[in-house]
Order: sequence, then structure tokens, then C-alpha cells
Amino acid sequence: MNFAVLTIFPEMFDLFWSHGIVRRAIEKKRISAHTVNIRDFAMDRHKSTDDRPFGGGCGMLMKTEPMAAAIRSAKIRNPASQTILLTPQGRRFDQNLAYALASLNDLILVCGRYEGVDERICDTLIDFEISIGDYVLTGGELPAMIIMDAVTRLLPDTLGGAESAEKDSFSDTLLEHAHYTRPRSFEEIDVPEVLLSGNHRAIDKWRLESSLIRTFLKRPDLLEKKRLDSGEIDILKKWCLDIEKIIRSQSLHGTDALSGS
Ligand code: SAM
Repeated sequence: MNFAVLTIFPEMFDLFWSHGIVRRAIEKKRISAHTVNIRDFAMDRHKSTDDRPFGGGCGMLMKTEPMAAAIRSAKIRNPASQTILLTPQGRRFDQNLAYALASLNDLILVCGRYEGVDERICDTLIDFEISIGDYVLTGGELPAMIIMDAVTRLLPDTLGGAESAEKDSFSDTLLEHAHYTRPRSFEEIDVPEVLLSGNHRAIDKWRLESSLIRTFLKRPDLLEKKRLDSGEIDILKKWCLDIEKIIRSQSLHGTDALSGS
């Protein structure tokens, strides 16, 4: 996978590319990554990259010609690239989109600044637009890093354990199960016994249950979208029975117990 990032702040990427899994992926040549400084394509004496919007109003826009020239230059280097504009108005980035991007070979990530880019850049030079969430940042650099980070860890041989990415949250519409490491007892809370049992079937079952519970409690919207298999339905049915049992036993103590008073 080749990433080209178009930005007026290329230095921001130096640290990002020199740490952790992304650095290892570059060293192993699983990815290549470089920045294109949009300012290098500015044509005036001051190397300006911003311009006033037609129609007035506050704020500046990315200057059109340097932006267009920078994109064209990146496309000449990698003609098969998909060109992505980072914008809060784009399709919301998620794990499915990360998988889709990981199947491509060349990505050009265009980072806006100021109040964004001229609409004609979007119309003529951008293949699609991505947002990392419904909030507005000052520039596209952090979104570009987020996308590169999420995509890189999905590429073969980039993570330590071959299966790690497949079991992550969202890969199967569910959040990932709870994790524990040493010590066995921390702040008087013990690691669940089953994880120490060495019984891998039981551990897998516990993890699936943990995954379902966490998704139900933290992100029920994900559970609604998922096609549950019979094993998962059995786990949910068992909870329903357990919860019913608790409610019934509380009812025997009178209704006050239910209202918590
Ligand atoms: N005026 C624009 C609007 O309301 O849609 C926001 C411009 S924002 C201040 C400047 C740049 O930051 C954008 O051009 C974009 O590249 C980037 N940006 C800000 N928030 C973003 C988000 N949620 N996702 C992706 N990029 C974002």
C-alpha cells in the first residue's frame, strides 16, 4: 500500500511514521508513505496556500491552483491512486471502510486547512470524501493519520499476531471481549477463573459471551445490525432467563426492591 499525503504541514507526519506498527510496516515494505507539501506548488512570491472566499464571509479557503497542482503531481507519480479528501462532510470512517481501503494499492490523502477547499477541486480531482466523525478539526492531518493507522494494521504481516486484527472490535460487528493480564488479582478483583483453565473451548465461549455483553451494554446499535448465529442467540436467551430469575426473586421481596429504595 502506498500512501501519499498532501498537506501544508508535512512535518506533522515525521513522528507518526517513526513509531510502532506503522514504522515497522514501512521497514518491512508493507507500506510506503510520503508527504507532498502543497506549499511547494504555490506560485506567488509568498508561497500562499490560502485565499478569500467568493461571496465574502469569515475564514479563508485552500488556494485552488496549488492544491490542484499538488494532487496532479501525486497522481502522475501513482496514476492508479484513489484520491481521498478528508472533510467533515464525507462518508463516516469505520472499520468496514478501513477494510475496503486496505484492499487498494495506492491512496492519496488530501488534508484541508482553513475553511476547506474550493468545490471545483472536489468535483474534478477527488474520488471520494471521508470524515472521521461529526466534529470539526482544524485540519485533515489527524484524520489522515487515523486512516493510515487503521488501514495499515489490516494489511498482512503488519501486526505481531496473525489473528489480532480479525478479532478486533467491529470486525464481526461486535465489540471485542474483555482482556486481562498479570497480576491474577488486582485491587482485589480476580481474573475470571476460566481464562486460567487452559480449556480453549471454554475460553472461546467466555470471550464470545463477554463480547456480546459488552456490545449490548456499550453499543446496542451494533447488536441490532448483526445477524446472530444460533450459538449467540442461545447466549442471549440464557441471559434473559437469568435476568428473569433475578427479577422474580426481587419481586418476592416486594416492589420496593425493584425501585431501589
Ligand atoms: N468549513 C468546513 C466545514 O464546515 O465542513 C470545515 C473545515 S475544517 C476547519 C478544515 C479542514 O480540516 C477540512 O478541510 C478537513 O480537511 C479537515 N477536517 C476537519 N474536521 C474533519 C473531520 N471530522 N473529518 C475529516 N477531516 C476533517
